[in-house]
Amino acid sequence: MTVWLRGDHLVRRSGPLVNRPEEPVLLIEAESFARKLPYHPHKLVLLFSAMRHFRDELRDEGRTVQYHRTETFEDGLAAHVEANPDDTLVTHRPQTASARARLESLVADAGGTVEFVPDERFCCSPSQFDEWAGDGRYRHEEFYRFMRRETGYLMADGDPVGGEWNYDDQNRETPPDGWTPPEPPQFEPDAVTEAVIEWVDATFEGSYDERPYGGDWADPEPFRWPVTRRQAVRALDHFVTHRLPEFGPYQDAMLDGEWAMSHSLLSTSLNLGLLGPDEVIERAIAAYEDDSAPLNSVEGFVRQVLGWREFLRHVYRREMPALAEANQLGASEALPDFYWDGNTDMACLSDVVDGVRERGYSHHIERLMVLANFGLIYGVEPTQLNRWFHAGYVDAFHWVTTPNVVEMGLYGAGVFATKPYASSANYVDKMSDYCSGCPYYKTKTTGDGACPFNALYWDFLDRNEDTLRSNHRIGLMYSHVDNKSEAELAEIRERATEIREMAAAGEL
Ligand code: SF4
Repeated sequence: MTVWLRGDHLVRRSGPLVNRPEEPVLLIEAESFARKLPYHPHKLVLLFSAMRHFRDELRDEGRTVQYHRTETFEDGLAAHVEANPDDTLVTHRPQTASARARLESLVADAGGTVEFVPDERFCCSPSQFDEWAGDGRYRHEEFYRFMRRETGYLMADGDPVGGEWNYDDQNRETPPDGWTPPEPPQFEPDAVTEAVIEWVDATFEGSYDERPYGGDWADPEPFRWPVTRRQAVRALDHFVTHRLPEFGPYQDAMLDGEWAMSHSLLSTSLNLGLLGPDEVIERAIAAYEDDSAPLNSVEGFVRQVLGWREFLRHVYRREMPALAEANQLGASEALPDFYWDGNTDMACLSDVVDGVRERGYSHHIERLMVLANFGLIYGVEPTQLNRWFHAGYVDAFHWVTTPNVVEMGLYGAGVFATKPYASSANYVDKMSDYCSGCPYYKTKTTGDGACPFNALYWDFLDRNEDTLRSNHRIGLMYSHVDNKSEAELAEIRERATEIREMAAAGEL
């Protein structure tokens, strides 16, 4: 029997590594995985460096580790089973039934068998979620309260600590002039990471534009993400000590050039298994209990990890494969090239896309209200934007991006989103400082220099009236559409067409 740790399951504190201390460990580094999409080089460096560090640490502790660097997983499994005939591999249960069947067949083809154990990267088990969800009415707020009660996190005698389930009303502030967030931690590459960087550059650079969605992640900044548990724990310490207190109030704010704000930057470590959700939640709650962070910040962070992350994982598990292809609005536009090359005059999109190109990251409100919002009102076909997020972000996996992008961002399926998160320049202007430095006019809807978000927003409502007017959460906006004359609507449609032509020509 062998413990097979897949690259995004580097869990040290529990699970098969702890339960089977005498068994050897298998890791497979498959190059074909890295060729599936035009992945950001930092994403590949993160994954492969974390795997190699994990291997070295286990070996230093005296554990037997078989580490195969092969072209495909099939090759790695075949090499393993050839050396260990009839072996049983114990591995974490994949997210979906189809992924489980695929792994079973891969191992069987190689001549071995596989046994699945619970995925330790999450708090809520599949059976727990299924019991809560019943036949499939997903409401995040209800799930989150269920999880608070189940775990007892931020609960006192059956009630939420502080008397409220959330403190969103305190968490929509914009920072005062002159505010700067604490410098985010940066983890210098060691020799192992340097070797991976060189290998990734030599192996994958130059092949990006040969891939289906093109893409050029040229000149990223130096690699900065934690690749070991020790580093991940330091990142957690840094967040709780320096960033958590201001995380809440500014969690929806955006500032030009401030990519990190006070966000936790822990998603890469959580999604690789270097940190557990329970430990990051408990550290944040401890900070509240010792008066070093306010409740609105701590509750906002707990909701991200205990609520949203767990919720999406299970919706994905239950709604795949249909969710990946969902497109209830029939959006069919190609993803504009500026998502890849950053070549746009729009100040908000330019800054956020540049950040993704430089470091494979932007925070959640930039993802939802700038990148996905623009894609939604522009009418981008959901699978294209999903692939872009999946390829470009260091913390992205298919289970992360598909519900976030296809459903939450683009309102593709309506399985949990109760409305499309569409907005004009108003939202960006309210929550950021982008508009003041933008060549587009935030208050203009049509005519030269009008902000593209404005015409696209009204055009989006107009185009999707049959689906959206009856939705009580957005239907009110149709009273504003109704107040527009036919001539105004015609100008809006014309401007929306012009914007799409400019985007296609690389002139937006
Ligand atoms: Fe973005 Fe429009 Fe504001 Fe420019 S004016 S920053 S394009 S929302």
